[in-house]
Parts: sequence; structure tokens; C-alpha cells
Amino acid sequence: MIRLYDTMAREKREFVPADPKRITMYVCGPTVYGRAHIGNARPAVVFDTLARLIRHQFGQGSLVYARNVTDVDDKIIAAAEAEGVEPSVITERFEDAYLEDMGALGVAPPDIAPHATQEIAPMVAMIKQLIDSGHAYAAEGHVLFSVPSDPDYGVLSRRDREQMIARARVEVAPYKRDPADFVLWKPSDDGVIGWESPWGRGRPGWHIECSAMIRAHLDETIDIHGGGLDLIFPHHENEIAQSRCAHGGAPLARYWVHNGFVDMGAEKMSKSLGNVVTAHELLAKGHRGETLRLALLSAHYRSPLPWTEGLIEQSKAILDKWYGLLRDLRPIKSAGSTSDIFATVEDELLDDLNTPGAIAALSSEIERLRQFRNEFVHNRPTFIGEQATAMQRDQFVNSARLMGLLESSPEAWFQSGGDDGAIEAKIAERANAKKNRDFATADRIREELKVEGILLEDGPSGTTWRRL
Ligand SMILES: [Zn+2]
Repeated sequence: MIRLYDTMAREKREFVPADPKRITMYVCGPTVYGRAHIGNARPAVVFDTLARLIRHQFGQGSLVYARNVTDVDDKIIAAAEAEGVEPSVITERFEDAYLEDMGALGVAPPDIAPHATQEIAPMVAMIKQLIDSGHAYAAEGHVLFSVPSDPDYGVLSRRDREQMIARARVEVAPYKRDPADFVLWKPSDDGVIGWESPWGRGRPGWHIECSAMIRAHLDETIDIHGGGLDLIFPHHENEIAQSRCAHGGAPLARYWVHNGFVDMGAEKMSKSLGNVVTAHELLAKGHRGETLRLALLSAHYRSPLPWTEGLIEQSKAILDKWYGLLRDLRPIKSAGSTSDIFATVEDELLDDLNTPGAIAALSSEIERLRQFRNEFVHNRPTFIGEQATAMQRDQFVNSARLMGLLESSPEAWFQSGGDDGAIEAKIAERANAKKNRDFATADRIREELKVEGILLEDGPSGTTWRRL
């Protein structure tokens, strides 16, 4: 049984889908006008991992996962004007880049990727419905959602009215009846992207996009709605209000799942703060997508994740260790038996996607496998012993794959020269320890490299190494 922390209930709840044969999940996707930074990559990786877990628990065909593409937005329009091109030139370029970068992080494309510009009709239909039912009004080419018309507004974020209108107070638009009202439709000037509507030529607000696409592609009420913590208010609050008011009170989602921020120093990584590092930059520097994925999963998804060079190095070191041992244990066809490690990792993930717990379990399992292997290195393996270890190896790989890790082969992982650099660094560390007469550390490093299949040879001109 999967347990998920539901932001609406403020507690962990057992995940019981309405229809286990067609589980519906919607995650707010990218606004495509620039490269995704590592903070944007976090929800993509988190919800990809949740999707894997749901499919593992309920069956491969059990989940319909939708993630939208916001391809009409003021920032896109500004970027297009700055380059003197159509908005579609910008959005196609950066959607391709997004899919490429997320693909490198092992994120599978969602089942459905609705684009805002392709879904104007359902949005206009929902806006009409909201006007007809007294929840929205047209004014000066705009259509606004009337927040006072919805007594339950604020149910997700639990903010009081003062907090909700704090930002709106700064510049209350004259056409708003209430400072908390938000835009469903806005006019487009000549030369700006727009569509004909009953309220004149214009374009949709951001919030209505998700409500309309959820109904068009999934349902009035879906199982899981996900996104980053920063979307709770106002975006998700507004989605809830629009959908519930358009659907006679039916809730938009049964479970609300939100991931925490990626922090740079003491601040949240965000484009507006200018402290971003993009997935593309990191990949271009030679970091593996899998290293970045492990780094993103190293903290619990609801906790803040401080992003540092050290975290990337540490994640690579873990994968070097994992792949290093796998390289030395031969795979065999497992008879489908489930070892303890698989059950342990599964249990951690079932408990609100506890990826740090699952990673820790895998790391202690690798220590155990390493000991197995040491025994083989020192005392010639028996066939049965070798087979048992290889079985453990399969279970180890399958456990890691629940999180989208270890999908590569050890050969592919160690193909680049990065591994050699790590070995040289260890040798330098050992030489330093010897110089300081810290022979315990020097011996430990030699031993660690040995179990990874690296033999050190001390000679008159220094230390050389070779693979066992
Ligand atoms: Zn959304």
C-alpha cells in the first residue's frame, strides 16, 4: 500500500485510487521559454519516480500521467519579441530542450502532454460555464474569477484573506471587483498572440489552463495532483476554485502532492533570483544524468534540497561504488525470487516515497555484497556461492530501478575517463595519508580500491594501478 502526504489533509494517507485500473495523475509542467534549472528538474524526477512506483504496485497500464506544457505566457511573448520571432519558435526550442534534459535524467515522457495553445476551446467553454454560474465576470476585455463567490476558497493553502490579497493590493487592477479576483482571460493587443472569444481577442490566464486540460484529458476529479510547493498558492488554490465551481462542487483531486525547493545557499533556486544552475549546464560539464537524478532523490521530496558541488560528487561516488561492484558480479537469470533488499527498498518507497531511506538501504546492501565479493577474491568462489551473489546482484539492480537508477550497464558507466580521475584522486589521498604517517587511512584506501577491482602497486617512482 502506497502512503502519500496529502497537502490538503496535512497528513500521510493511504493511497486508494478511485479506479485502480485507471489511476489519474496530473503534474503542472514547464513554461517553455528557457532551459530548465535543477529546481525545475526536481518535480520532473520526483513525479517520474512516483509514476514508476504506482505502475509497480498497480500494473504497467494502471496509470495515466499527464503533464502540461504552458506554451502561451507573458514571459514567452517577451522572449519572442526580444528575438523578433514567433512565440512558437521559442516554445518549440525550449520544449525540445526540456524533454532532452529530463530524458538525460531518466525521466520518461508523460502519457499525455497537453499544450495550452491547442486547448483554447475547452478553456473558453469552462470560462463560459463559470460566468453562467455566477463565479466569473467579464470586464474591460478581461474575464475574472470572483473569489467571494466561492466560500471554500483557500482550502488548500489555508491562508487568511489578508495574506491572499497582500500581493494584489500592490496593484489592484481597476476592473477587479475584489482584490483577490484572478484572471481567466485577458485581451491581446494587435500583433500579440491571441484567439477570438466571446470577450474579444485574447489569451487565457495560466490557472484556467490546468483546470480545463485536467477535465478534457483525465476527469473532473483526479487521483493525484502534483507540483512544486510554490504552486500551492495561488496556482493550485485557483485551479481548485475554478474546477470545483465548474463541476458542481466535485473536488479536483483526491491527493495533493507537493515537492520542496532546491536551495542555492540560503535561497530557493529561482530564475527571478538569478541563482540558477541548469540541468543542461551540468550535463555539458560532463556530469551524468543519473548522477543528477540520484542527487535530486537524495533528500526526501518534501524537504528542501541544498544544491552543492559536494552533493554531485557524493552522488557520483555512490554510483561509482554501485556500478563498480556490479561490474564484478556476473548476472544470472534470477528465478524471480525477491530478496530482502527488494522488499526493504519497496517499503521505503511505499512510505511517502522515502528515497533517502531506499538509497541508504541500497548502500548498506552494497557493503554486504562487497564482503561477499572479498571472500571470493580471497578464497576462490564455489559455484553455489557465486550464484547466490549474482542473484543478490539482480535484486539489487531491480530495487534501484524502482527509482530509475542503475538502468545503465557498468561497462557504459565506466566508459568515460571520469572513473580514472577518481582513482587518481584516491591514490593522491593515500600518498598524503602515508606522508602524514596515517597508515590506517592509507590501508583503508588501498582496501577500498581493491574491492572495486583496482590493484595499487607501490614502486620507486610512486604508485601505479591496474584493474584486477
Ligand atoms: Zn497547474
